[in-house]
Amino acid sequence: MKEETDYSLLRHNTFGFDARCRRYVEYSTVAEAMKTAALLARETKPFLIIGGGSNLLLTHDYDGTVVRSAIRGIEVVRKTAVSVYVRVGSGECWDDFVAACIDQGWYGAENLSLIPGDVGATAVQNIGAYGVEASDLITSVEAVRIADGREAELAAAGCRYGYRQSRFKQEWKNQYLITHVVFRLSLTFKPRLDYGNIRAELAALGIEKPKAAELRRVIISIRRQKLPDPAVQGNAGSFFMNPVVDRSKFEQLQTQYPDIPHYFVDATREKIPAGWMIEQCGWKGRSLGRAGVHDKQALVLVNRGGATGSEIVALSDAICKDVKAKFGIDIHPEVNII
Ligand SMILES: Cc1cc2nc3c(=O)[nH]c(=O)nc-3n(C[C@H](O)[C@H](O)[C@H](O)COP(=O)(O)OP(=O)(O)OC[C@H]3O[C@@H](n4cnc5c(N)ncnc54)[C@H](O)[C@@H]3O)c2cc1C
Repeated sequence: MKEETDYSLLRHNTFGFDARCRRYVEYSTVAEAMKTAALLARETKPFLIIGGGSNLLLTHDYDGTVVRSAIRGIEVVRKTAVSVYVRVGSGECWDDFVAACIDQGWYGAENLSLIPGDVGATAVQNIGAYGVEASDLITSVEAVRIADGREAELAAAGCRYGYRQSRFKQEWKNQYLITHVVFRLSLTFKPRLDYGNIRAELAALGIEKPKAAELRRVIISIRRQKLPDPAVQGNAGSFFMNPVVDRSKFEQLQTQYPDIPHYFVDATREKIPAGWMIEQCGWKGRSLGRAGVHDKQALVLVNRGGATGSEIVALSDAICKDVKAKFGIDIHPEVNII
């Protein structure tokens, strides 16, 4: 178990802020996760569980304990004629796992290529991209309960997965240290090509029926064109969640903005892309101090160099205010603001 005091979180958040924490703990085995749980249960100061910190905005030093999983390992636990069940350590890098799946001939995760972060966080965040979500693949989550240090196996069906949502983000917040995630992958490659400009990119390369590795390469290429690389410009991907509104509200907006993009949620609700609204408010590519809105994707806030976490928050607040004034809709950060 790694334990440090007065520790810099610079390498642990993709915005690249040099906030420090009073104590930093890393667990590498289930037994260490149990020890960590006991330590947290006794602790009077707050604690913060992180993965790669790619959905995290640190606005100040953290007067408490920051915990991260360093549990590694990718292990086949079951195989059927059509699927393979793979148990993965929560501290594995998600994108390395996606690459390993393709190498092994385990399919289903290709569209989630290049999403930053650790495997453990995918089960919290229900990451999604290009028509695929982590919850399409997760069958169960193994964790240690902080309250009593006991191991728990949580079936995906009970994790209430939704759009970027899970019980881990709600009533289970800060209750579990995730140790492993079990994924079911297909032994047959069934590409999902109908989202974004995947087909157009494949066509440009003269590929009609891509292999899994080709699909991964195309996804990576599209993402690199659209999203800033955190190693070059600090960011946490999509900063805001796309709001879901009542159909009556949506229809009222549609008469005002006939071209408003929208996604069907159910008979009574539509989802509206927050990035479109932010762009309509004139924020795309603009800055407030050293915090900015990415010029290719208005949903992404960036550290233009030397910004503080508070400057990013000030920009986020200004954007939310403008979106509310123009569209009458509240948008909310997806990113954890500490
Ligand atoms: C450039 C960029 C692009 C992105 N693109 C996408 C995208 O396409 N789709 C998408 O969905 N997201 C995207 N994201 C957001 C981010 O990558 C995901 O939310 C990712 O799952 C976060 O992983 P992380 O390990 O960095 O988690 P962190 O941000 O460190 O933590 C996320 C949450 O998980 C919890 N957590 C982490 N590990 C554990 C554990 N072991 N036990 C218990 N709780 C834990 C934390 O407490 C926190 O609530 C992007 C981010 C960036 C920077």
